[in-house]
Amino acid sequence: MNAKSRIVVVGGSFGGLTAAYELRRRIDSDSATITVISKDERFTFVPSLTWVAMGTRTLTQISFDLDVPLSKKQIIFAHQSVLAIDSDRKVVITAETEHPYDFLIVATGHRSANEAVTGLGPFDGPGHSPMSSAEAEELNEAIERLRQKPGPIVVGAAPGASCIGPAYELVFELDHMLRREKLRHMVPMSFVTPEPFLGHMGMGGMGKIRQLLEGAFEEREIIYRTSAAITKITDQDVEIEGTGSVESELSIVIPPLGGIEAVAKSPGLANPKGFIPVDSHYRHTSAEGVYAVGVAAAFAPVGETPVPVNFPKTGHMTEQMAHIAAADIAARLAGKESSSAELSARCILDMGDTAVYLSVSPVRPPRNEIPTISQGRRWLLAKHAFERTYLWHAKMGRRMPTTLGW
Ligand SMILES: Cc1cc2nc3c(=O)[nH]c(=O)nc-3n(C[C@H](O)[C@H](O)[C@H](O)COP(=O)(O)OP(=O)(O)OC[C@H]3O[C@@H](n4cnc5c(N)ncnc54)[C@H](O)[C@@H]3O)c2cc1C
Repeated sequence: MNAKSRIVVVGGSFGGLTAAYELRRRIDSDSATITVISKDERFTFVPSLTWVAMGTRTLTQISFDLDVPLSKKQIIFAHQSVLAIDSDRKVVITAETEHPYDFLIVATGHRSANEAVTGLGPFDGPGHSPMSSAEAEELNEAIERLRQKPGPIVVGAAPGASCIGPAYELVFELDHMLRREKLRHMVPMSFVTPEPFLGHMGMGGMGKIRQLLEGAFEEREIIYRTSAAITKITDQDVEIEGTGSVESELSIVIPPLGGIEAVAKSPGLANPKGFIPVDSHYRHTSAEGVYAVGVAAAFAPVGETPVPVNFPKTGHMTEQMAHIAAADIAARLAGKESSSAELSARCILDMGDTAVYLSVSPVRPPRNEIPTISQGRRWLLAKHAFERTYLWHAKMGRRMPTTLGW
């Protein structure tokens, strides 16, 4: 009898959990052990961190413990922090032990590269960000302080940022909240972005989203600056290269991202930014048996822009990558080749009192389909429904719904 294959997945979020479930769906427990290693004990529905920041969700409402759903699927859960990956010896090293693997999927997400701009925060400077659970909770406290003492604010992204969608959501959600509370007249709002035009989002734009966002900002009296390189954030302002500074008492600035330190410093694994180079099956371009999905995978930007903007790796794209990688491992175990697919993108952008649904295929222009852009309050309801549905499916170990928006 052949020994069981050992499959290790690092990360328990969109990439890791989806890959682990999909692997188990395709490979029975007599053929392979599947181990998920995650430094976080819980799965968190990251897109709702903006709602945690706005105070309309708690972290408990948008997360669940990973151990029970994984063990129900005969997947081992190791609540450990990975220190390094030795791709020559094929082991994942944690403080507690070494996990040998035949196949490894790295889905470790990002590190906020706050060192890129002086003052990016919140734990490295006066800036704020929704990029992790702790940062979203900190931002919620900062927003509470703004309600008590209204003043000018800047929302935006630093040069090299890739995850710009949440900045748009926060500026619209804040505008909506401040109007509702009759505080908006005391809060001049600016949106500062490295994107060459509104709605570029690191994807080269999407149909008429530029016009829609420009109109929405003008209607809501949100001043915007594009191709803007933020150089410094202080307690009083945000400095922009070549154009001086914008007064700001609350600066929410999305940082550029890098790969996590354990991956970045593991020899032969990552590029200089700490992301993992992959092929169309999300296999590492040289390390045998290694895959990377989600934010951990390296993608080139879509074209050059005057101020750098990087390619976004959304939750929806992360899931597609996880499915492709899992299918490839299952096929290789069966002695077959699997197919791959171009990534598409779908998301719902919360605009406070309304929302816009965006769908593009493929992600990079030129595209086969004219992008779908649809605005209306129904999309806000759909975004809320999707969060609930997704969390339920993920907790039950069910295949995630793919037809609804993100
Ligand atoms: C505020 C915000 C809003 C967003 N909104 C949307 C949206 O509306 N739609 C959309 O499609 N996408 C959205 N995204 C993007 C989406 O959340 C990401 O694409 C997705 O989280 C990426 O999943 P991932 O599995 O690659 O990484 P992550 O979600 O970052 O997960 C990383 C995992 O790796 C684990 N890990 C990290 N380091 C270690 C270590 N050393 N050892 C062990 N485990 C480790 C973590 O515990 C975690 O489980 C948003 C992102 C943010 C921040």
